[in-house]
Amino acid sequence: MKPLLLKGGRIVDPATSLDSLRDLRVRDGRIAEIGEHLDAAADEEIVDARGTVIAPGFIDMHVHLREPGFEEKETIATGTLAAVNGGFTAVACMPNTNPALDDPTVLSALMQTVQREARCRVYPIAAITRGREGREPCDYAELTAAGAVAFSDDGDSVEDADVLRDAALRARPLDAPIVDHCLPEETLVARDVKLCAETGKRWHIAHVSTAAALESIAAARSRGVAVTCEVTPHHLTFTGALVKEAGAAAKVNPPLRTQSDVDALRRGVRDGTIDAFASDHAPHTEQEKSGDFERAAPGFSGLEVAVGAYAAALADLPLLRFVALLSTNPARILKIRGGTLAPKEAADITIFADRPWRVDPAAFASKGKCTPFAGRRLPRRILATIVGGAVRYRAPDWEA
Ligand SMILES: [Zn+2]
Repeated sequence: MKPLLLKGGRIVDPATSLDSLRDLRVRDGRIAEIGEHLDAAADEEIVDARGTVIAPGFIDMHVHLREPGFEEKETIATGTLAAVNGGFTAVACMPNTNPALDDPTVLSALMQTVQREARCRVYPIAAITRGREGREPCDYAELTAAGAVAFSDDGDSVEDADVLRDAALRARPLDAPIVDHCLPEETLVARDVKLCAETGKRWHIAHVSTAAALESIAAARSRGVAVTCEVTPHHLTFTGALVKEAGAAAKVNPPLRTQSDVDALRRGVRDGTIDAFASDHAPHTEQEKSGDFERAAPGFSGLEVAVGAYAAALADLPLLRFVALLSTNPARILKIRGGTLAPKEAADITIFADRPWRVDPAAFASKGKCTPFAGRRLPRRILATIVGGAVRYRAPDWEA
Protein backbone atom coordinates (compact mmCIF):
# COMPACT_ATOMS: atom_id res chain seq x y z
CA MET A 1 0.00 0.00 0.00
CA LYS A 2 1.71 3.15 -1.23
CA PRO A 3 1.66 6.23 1.00
CA LEU A 4 -0.38 9.05 -0.58
CA LEU A 5 -0.17 12.82 -0.59
CA LEU A 6 -3.46 14.42 -1.66
CA LYS A 7 -2.58 17.96 -2.81
CA GLY A 8 -4.86 20.97 -2.80
CA GLY A 9 -8.29 19.42 -2.23
CA ARG A 10 -11.10 21.06 -0.32
CA ILE A 11 -11.11 19.13 2.92
CA VAL A 12 -14.53 18.94 4.54
CA ASP A 13 -14.55 17.32 7.98
CA PRO A 14 -17.66 18.01 10.08
CA ALA A 15 -16.12 16.31 13.13
CA THR A 16 -13.42 18.99 13.34
CA SER A 17 -15.44 21.74 11.56
CA LEU A 18 -12.74 21.96 8.89
CA ASP A 19 -13.71 23.25 5.44
CA SER A 20 -10.55 24.52 3.72
CA LEU A 21 -8.07 23.89 0.95
CA ARG A 22 -5.38 21.66 2.43
CA ASP A 23 -2.95 18.85 1.68
CA LEU A 24 -3.57 15.49 3.31
CA ARG A 25 -1.03 12.74 3.90
CA VAL A 26 -1.99 9.05 4.17
CA ARG A 27 0.56 6.64 5.56
CA ASP A 28 0.34 3.11 7.01
CA GLY A 29 -3.41 3.09 6.44
CA ARG A 30 -4.00 6.15 8.58
CA ILE A 31 -4.45 9.89 8.18
CA ALA A 32 -0.91 11.03 8.95
CA GLU A 33 -1.19 14.78 8.64
CA ILE A 34 -3.23 17.69 7.25
CA GLY A 35 -1.54 20.98 6.41
CA GLU A 36 -1.52 23.97 4.11
CA HIS A 37 1.61 22.96 2.22
CA LEU A 38 2.97 19.49 2.83
CA ASP A 39 6.14 18.40 1.05
CA ALA A 40 6.09 15.02 -0.64
CA ALA A 41 8.29 12.26 0.73
CA ALA A 42 10.25 10.17 -1.81
CA ASP A 43 8.04 7.09 -1.46
CA GLU A 44 4.68 8.89 -1.76
CA GLU A 45 2.25 8.93 -4.64
CA ILE A 46 1.20 12.53 -5.23
CA VAL A 47 -2.47 13.01 -6.12
CA ASP A 48 -3.50 16.33 -7.61
CA ALA A 49 -6.79 16.86 -5.77
CA ARG A 50 -7.42 20.45 -6.86
CA GLY A 51 -11.06 20.99 -7.73
CA THR A 52 -12.21 18.06 -5.60
CA VAL A 53 -13.76 17.64 -2.17
CA ILE A 54 -12.05 15.30 0.28
CA ALA A 55 -14.35 13.93 2.97
CA PRO A 56 -14.25 11.30 5.68
CA GLY A 57 -15.40 8.02 4.15
CA PHE A 58 -19.13 7.82 3.53
CA ILE A 59 -21.08 5.28 5.56
CA ASP A 60 -24.36 3.85 4.26
CA MET A 61 -26.09 2.68 7.42
CA HIS A 62 -28.91 0.84 5.62
CA VAL A 63 -28.16 -1.64 2.86
CA HIS A 64 -29.24 -5.16 1.95
CA LEU A 65 -26.33 -7.32 0.84
CA ARG A 66 -28.56 -10.43 0.52
CA GLU A 67 -25.88 -12.89 1.60
CA PRO A 68 -26.44 -15.49 3.02
CA GLY A 69 -29.39 -16.96 1.16
CA PHE A 70 -30.22 -14.63 -1.71
CA GLU A 71 -26.99 -14.58 -3.70
CA GLU A 72 -28.94 -14.33 -6.96
CA LYS A 73 -29.82 -10.74 -5.89
CA GLU A 74 -26.46 -9.66 -4.45
CA THR A 75 -23.37 -10.97 -2.66
CA ILE A 76 -20.89 -9.48 -0.22
CA ALA A 77 -18.47 -9.16 -3.16
CA THR A 78 -20.85 -7.40 -5.57
CA GLY A 79 -22.61 -5.29 -2.93
CA THR A 80 -19.40 -3.93 -1.45
CA LEU A 81 -17.97 -3.28 -4.93
CA ALA A 82 -21.12 -1.24 -5.60
CA ALA A 83 -20.49 0.52 -2.28
CA VAL A 84 -16.94 1.66 -3.06
CA ASN A 85 -17.96 2.65 -6.61
CA GLY A 86 -20.64 4.79 -5.01
CA GLY A 87 -18.20 6.44 -2.57
CA PHE A 88 -18.91 4.36 0.53
CA THR A 89 -16.09 3.09 2.71
CA ALA A 90 -18.48 1.30 5.06
CA VAL A 91 -21.99 -0.11 5.02
CA ALA A 92 -24.31 -1.54 7.66
CA CYS A 93 -26.23 -4.54 6.33
CA MET A 94 -29.72 -5.60 7.30
CA PRO A 95 -30.57 -9.03 8.76
CA ASN A 96 -33.30 -10.17 6.34
CA THR A 97 -31.09 -12.90 4.95
CA ASN A 98 -31.62 -16.67 5.02
CA PRO A 99 -30.80 -17.65 7.67
CA ALA A 100 -31.58 -14.31 9.33
CA LEU A 101 -28.76 -12.60 11.24
CA ASP A 102 -30.26 -13.69 14.55
CA ASP A 103 -27.50 -15.88 15.91
CA PRO A 104 -23.78 -15.35 16.67
CA THR A 105 -22.75 -18.35 14.54
CA VAL A 106 -24.57 -16.90 11.49
CA LEU A 107 -22.93 -13.56 12.16
CA SER A 108 -19.47 -15.09 12.53
CA ALA A 109 -19.84 -16.97 9.23
CA LEU A 110 -20.92 -13.73 7.55
CA MET A 111 -17.94 -11.86 8.96
CA GLN A 112 -15.62 -14.54 7.56
CA THR A 113 -17.07 -13.96 4.10
CA VAL A 114 -16.67 -10.21 4.65
CA GLN A 115 -13.03 -10.69 5.60
CA ARG A 116 -12.42 -12.67 2.40
CA GLU A 117 -14.49 -10.77 -0.12
CA ALA A 118 -15.59 -7.31 1.00
CA ARG A 119 -14.20 -4.21 -0.70
CA CYS A 120 -15.29 -1.93 2.16
CA ARG A 121 -16.05 -2.26 5.86
CA VAL A 122 -19.25 -4.13 6.64
CA TYR A 123 -21.13 -3.75 9.92
CA PRO A 124 -23.95 -6.22 10.46
CA ILE A 125 -27.29 -5.20 11.91
CA ALA A 126 -28.67 -8.21 13.77
CA ALA A 127 -32.29 -9.23 14.17
CA ILE A 128 -34.43 -8.17 17.14
CA THR A 129 -36.33 -11.46 17.27
CA ARG A 130 -35.50 -15.04 16.30
CA GLY A 131 -36.09 -15.58 12.60
CA ARG A 132 -37.43 -11.98 12.51
CA GLU A 133 -40.76 -13.48 13.52
CA GLY A 134 -41.63 -10.90 16.14
CA ARG A 135 -41.86 -13.29 19.07
CA GLU A 136 -38.69 -14.52 20.75
CA PRO A 137 -35.90 -12.06 21.60
CA CYS A 138 -32.36 -12.71 20.35
CA ASP A 139 -29.34 -12.69 22.66
CA TYR A 140 -28.22 -9.09 22.15
CA ALA A 141 -25.01 -9.27 24.16
CA GLU A 142 -23.81 -12.30 22.19
CA LEU A 143 -24.74 -10.68 18.88
CA THR A 144 -22.88 -7.51 19.81
CA ALA A 145 -19.83 -9.57 20.72
CA ALA A 146 -20.05 -11.19 17.25
CA GLY A 147 -20.03 -7.74 15.58
CA ALA A 148 -23.62 -6.45 15.48
CA VAL A 149 -23.84 -2.64 15.61
CA ALA A 150 -27.65 -2.35 15.79
CA PHE A 151 -30.80 -4.45 16.00
CA SER A 152 -33.66 -4.50 13.51
CA ASP A 153 -36.29 -6.86 12.19
CA ASP A 154 -36.05 -4.89 8.97
CA GLY A 155 -39.13 -4.99 6.70
CA ASP A 156 -41.02 -6.85 9.40
CA SER A 157 -41.53 -4.35 12.19
CA VAL A 158 -42.07 -6.07 15.53
CA GLU A 159 -45.86 -5.90 15.79
CA ASP A 160 -46.25 -6.75 19.46
CA ALA A 161 -45.34 -3.67 21.52
CA ASP A 162 -44.67 -5.84 24.59
CA VAL A 163 -42.12 -7.92 22.70
CA LEU A 164 -40.41 -4.77 21.44
CA ARG A 165 -40.43 -3.15 24.90
CA ASP A 166 -38.87 -6.28 26.38
CA ALA A 167 -36.25 -6.32 23.60
CA ALA A 168 -35.41 -2.65 24.16
CA LEU A 169 -34.94 -3.22 27.89
CA ARG A 170 -32.72 -6.26 27.29
CA ALA A 171 -30.62 -4.38 24.73
CA ARG A 172 -30.50 -1.20 26.76
CA PRO A 173 -27.07 -1.73 28.39
CA LEU A 174 -25.55 -2.13 24.91
CA ASP A 175 -24.43 0.73 22.64
CA ALA A 176 -26.19 -0.66 19.57
CA PRO A 177 -29.48 1.15 18.84
CA ILE A 178 -32.79 -0.38 17.78
CA VAL A 179 -33.45 0.39 14.11
CA ASP A 180 -37.09 0.23 13.16
CA HIS A 181 -38.58 0.12 9.68
CA CYS A 182 -42.04 1.30 10.75
CA LEU A 183 -44.60 0.12 8.23
CA PRO A 184 -47.30 1.48 8.41
CA GLU A 185 -45.31 4.53 9.22
CA GLU A 186 -47.49 7.03 11.09
CA THR A 187 -48.79 4.71 13.82
CA LEU A 188 -45.57 2.77 14.30
CA VAL A 189 -43.30 5.82 14.51
CA ALA A 190 -45.60 7.23 17.20
CA ARG A 191 -45.52 3.88 19.05
CA ASP A 192 -41.73 3.52 18.75
CA VAL A 193 -41.06 7.05 19.92
CA LYS A 194 -43.16 6.25 22.98
CA LEU A 195 -41.27 3.00 23.62
CA CYS A 196 -37.99 4.85 23.17
CA ALA A 197 -38.97 7.41 25.81
CA GLU A 198 -40.30 4.71 28.13
CA THR A 199 -37.33 2.33 27.97
CA GLY A 200 -34.52 4.86 27.56
CA LYS A 201 -33.10 2.73 24.75
CA ARG A 202 -31.55 4.60 21.84
CA TRP A 203 -33.72 4.31 18.73
CA HIS A 204 -33.23 5.00 15.03
CA ILE A 205 -36.09 5.26 12.55
CA ALA A 206 -35.18 3.87 9.13
CA HIS A 207 -36.22 5.59 5.90
CA VAL A 208 -38.70 8.15 7.25
CA SER A 209 -40.94 9.09 4.33
CA THR A 210 -43.91 11.19 5.50
CA ALA A 211 -44.32 14.69 6.90
CA ALA A 212 -46.41 13.31 9.78
CA ALA A 213 -43.79 10.75 10.85
CA LEU A 214 -41.13 13.43 10.71
CA GLU A 215 -43.27 15.69 12.89
CA SER A 216 -43.67 13.08 15.59
CA ILE A 217 -39.90 12.46 15.58
CA ALA A 218 -39.20 16.21 15.86
CA ALA A 219 -41.72 16.56 18.70
CA ALA A 220 -40.16 13.65 20.62
CA ARG A 221 -36.66 15.05 20.19
CA SER A 222 -37.76 18.42 21.51
CA ARG A 223 -38.78 16.52 24.66
CA GLY A 224 -35.30 14.99 24.85
CA VAL A 225 -36.16 11.50 23.55
CA ALA A 226 -33.05 9.77 22.10
CA VAL A 227 -34.40 9.06 18.63
CA THR A 228 -32.59 9.65 15.32
CA CYS A 229 -33.71 9.08 11.75
CA GLU A 230 -32.57 8.69 8.16
CA VAL A 231 -33.94 9.45 4.70
CA THR A 232 -33.38 7.74 1.34
CA PRO A 233 -32.48 9.35 -2.00
CA HIS A 234 -35.74 8.17 -3.60
CA HIS A 235 -38.00 9.60 -0.90
CA LEU A 236 -36.19 12.94 -1.30
CA THR A 237 -36.81 12.89 -5.05
CA PHE A 238 -39.90 11.07 -6.31
CA THR A 239 -43.62 11.05 -5.61
CA GLY A 240 -46.10 8.20 -6.07
CA ALA A 241 -46.77 9.61 -9.55
CA LEU A 242 -43.66 7.75 -10.70
CA VAL A 243 -45.49 4.43 -10.34
CA LYS A 244 -47.67 5.27 -13.37
CA GLU A 245 -44.59 5.86 -15.46
CA ALA A 246 -42.18 3.22 -14.13
CA GLY A 247 -44.50 0.51 -12.78
CA ALA A 248 -42.81 -2.29 -10.83
CA ALA A 249 -39.47 -0.47 -10.97
CA ALA A 250 -40.92 2.23 -8.69
CA LYS A 251 -42.26 -0.24 -6.12
CA VAL A 252 -40.59 0.30 -2.74
CA ASN A 253 -41.30 0.16 1.00
CA PRO A 254 -42.26 2.61 2.35
CA PRO A 255 -43.95 3.67 -0.90
CA LEU A 256 -43.15 6.90 -2.73
CA ARG A 257 -45.33 9.62 -1.19
CA THR A 258 -46.69 13.06 -2.10
CA GLN A 259 -44.92 16.27 -3.08
CA SER A 260 -45.65 17.81 0.32
CA ASP A 261 -43.94 14.81 1.98
CA VAL A 262 -40.92 15.26 -0.31
CA ASP A 263 -40.81 18.95 0.60
CA ALA A 264 -41.07 18.16 4.33
CA LEU A 265 -38.22 15.63 4.10
CA ARG A 266 -36.01 18.17 2.34
CA ARG A 267 -36.83 20.70 5.06
CA GLY A 268 -36.05 18.04 7.67
CA VAL A 269 -32.57 17.58 6.21
CA ARG A 270 -31.95 21.32 6.20
CA ASP A 271 -33.25 22.00 9.72
CA GLY A 272 -31.45 19.05 11.32
CA THR A 273 -34.46 16.84 12.15
CA ILE A 274 -33.03 14.21 9.80
CA ASP A 275 -29.66 12.91 10.96
CA ALA A 276 -28.47 10.66 8.16
CA PHE A 277 -28.70 9.80 4.49
CA ALA A 278 -29.13 6.05 3.87
CA SER A 279 -29.82 4.40 0.53
CA ASP A 280 -31.82 1.30 1.59
CA HIS A 281 -29.93 -0.41 -1.23
CA ALA A 282 -32.29 -3.33 -1.94
CA PRO A 283 -31.21 -5.21 -5.07
CA HIS A 284 -33.46 -7.79 -6.73
CA THR A 285 -33.25 -9.89 -9.89
CA GLU A 286 -34.55 -8.41 -13.13
CA GLN A 287 -37.45 -10.83 -13.10
CA GLU A 288 -38.50 -9.73 -9.59
CA LYS A 289 -38.54 -6.07 -10.69
CA SER A 290 -40.51 -6.42 -13.91
CA GLY A 291 -44.06 -7.31 -14.84
CA ASP A 292 -47.03 -7.07 -12.52
CA PHE A 293 -46.79 -4.31 -9.87
CA GLU A 294 -48.60 -6.33 -7.20
CA ARG A 295 -46.23 -9.27 -7.53
CA ALA A 296 -42.99 -7.29 -7.96
CA ALA A 297 -40.46 -7.15 -5.09
CA PRO A 298 -40.23 -3.83 -3.22
CA GLY A 299 -36.95 -1.91 -3.34
CA PHE A 300 -34.10 -1.31 -5.79
CA SER A 301 -30.38 -0.62 -5.92
CA GLY A 302 -29.17 2.60 -4.33
CA LEU A 303 -25.46 2.52 -3.53
CA GLU A 304 -24.20 3.68 -6.93
CA VAL A 305 -26.59 6.62 -7.35
CA ALA A 306 -27.07 7.79 -3.76
CA VAL A 307 -24.43 10.53 -3.50
CA GLY A 308 -25.43 12.15 -6.80
CA ALA A 309 -29.11 11.85 -5.94
CA TYR A 310 -28.76 13.55 -2.53
CA ALA A 311 -26.90 16.40 -4.22
CA ALA A 312 -29.62 16.72 -6.85
CA ALA A 313 -32.38 16.82 -4.24
CA LEU A 314 -30.58 19.33 -1.99
CA ALA A 315 -28.43 21.44 -4.28
CA ASP A 316 -28.12 24.22 -1.70
CA LEU A 317 -27.10 22.04 1.25
CA PRO A 318 -23.77 23.26 2.72
CA LEU A 319 -21.01 20.71 2.19
CA LEU A 320 -20.25 20.39 5.91
CA ARG A 321 -23.85 19.30 6.46
CA PHE A 322 -23.86 17.07 3.35
CA VAL A 323 -20.81 15.19 4.62
CA ALA A 324 -22.15 15.02 8.19
CA LEU A 325 -25.27 13.22 6.94
CA LEU A 326 -23.18 10.75 4.94
CA SER A 327 -20.33 10.11 7.34
CA THR A 328 -20.04 11.78 10.73
CA ASN A 329 -23.63 11.20 11.84
CA PRO A 330 -23.97 7.55 10.75
CA ALA A 331 -20.68 6.83 12.57
CA ARG A 332 -22.04 8.46 15.73
CA ILE A 333 -25.43 6.72 15.54
CA LEU A 334 -23.88 3.27 15.08
CA LYS A 335 -20.91 4.09 17.36
CA ILE A 336 -18.45 2.82 14.79
CA ARG A 337 -15.06 4.15 13.73
CA GLY A 338 -14.90 6.75 10.99
CA GLY A 339 -16.74 9.96 10.31
CA THR A 340 -13.65 12.15 10.62
CA LEU A 341 -10.33 12.92 8.94
CA ALA A 342 -8.57 13.64 12.23
CA PRO A 343 -4.90 12.58 12.24
CA LYS A 344 -4.23 8.99 13.45
CA GLU A 345 -7.70 7.85 12.37
CA ALA A 346 -7.99 5.08 9.76
CA ALA A 347 -7.66 6.57 6.26
CA ASP A 348 -11.25 6.04 5.11
CA ILE A 349 -11.69 8.81 2.55
CA THR A 350 -14.23 9.74 -0.11
CA ILE A 351 -13.22 12.14 -2.89
CA PHE A 352 -15.94 13.72 -5.02
CA ALA A 353 -16.65 16.69 -7.25
CA ASP A 354 -19.57 18.56 -8.73
CA ARG A 355 -19.37 17.03 -12.20
CA PRO A 356 -22.63 15.95 -13.82
CA TRP A 357 -23.05 12.38 -15.05
CA ARG A 358 -25.84 10.20 -16.35
CA VAL A 359 -27.06 7.08 -14.51
CA ASP A 360 -26.54 3.90 -16.55
CA PRO A 361 -27.72 0.89 -14.51
CA ALA A 362 -26.06 -1.52 -16.98
CA ALA A 363 -22.74 -0.23 -15.63
CA PHE A 364 -23.63 -1.00 -11.99
CA ALA A 365 -21.38 -3.35 -10.05
CA SER A 366 -24.49 -4.35 -8.09
CA LYS A 367 -26.38 -7.37 -9.42
CA GLY A 368 -29.55 -5.31 -9.04
CA LYS A 369 -29.82 -3.13 -12.15
CA CYS A 370 -33.15 -1.53 -11.25
CA THR A 371 -33.25 2.11 -10.09
CA PRO A 372 -35.81 4.89 -10.52
CA PHE A 373 -32.84 7.17 -11.26
CA ALA A 374 -32.01 5.32 -14.53
CA GLY A 375 -31.16 7.81 -17.26
CA ARG A 376 -31.16 10.79 -14.88
CA ARG A 377 -28.45 13.40 -14.86
CA LEU A 378 -26.99 13.81 -11.37
CA PRO A 379 -24.78 16.76 -10.42
CA ARG A 380 -22.16 15.17 -8.12
CA ARG A 381 -19.93 12.17 -8.66
CA ILE A 382 -17.40 10.04 -6.86
CA LEU A 383 -13.77 10.31 -7.99
CA ALA A 384 -12.10 7.98 -5.50
CA THR A 385 -12.84 5.82 -2.48
CA ILE A 386 -10.04 4.96 -0.08
CA VAL A 387 -10.53 2.31 2.62
CA GLY A 388 -7.86 2.04 5.32
CA GLY A 389 -5.37 3.79 3.03
CA ALA A 390 -6.03 1.48 0.04
CA VAL A 391 -7.56 3.03 -3.09
CA ARG A 392 -10.60 0.80 -3.69
CA TYR A 393 -12.17 2.91 -6.42
CA ARG A 394 -10.83 5.53 -8.78
CA ALA A 395 -12.99 7.02 -11.52
CA PRO A 396 -11.50 5.84 -14.81
CA ASP A 397 -11.45 9.35 -16.25
CA TRP A 398 -9.95 11.02 -13.19
CA GLU A 399 -6.35 11.73 -13.95
CA ALA A 400 -4.83 12.37 -10.57
ZN1 LIG B 1 -34.36 -1.85 4.21
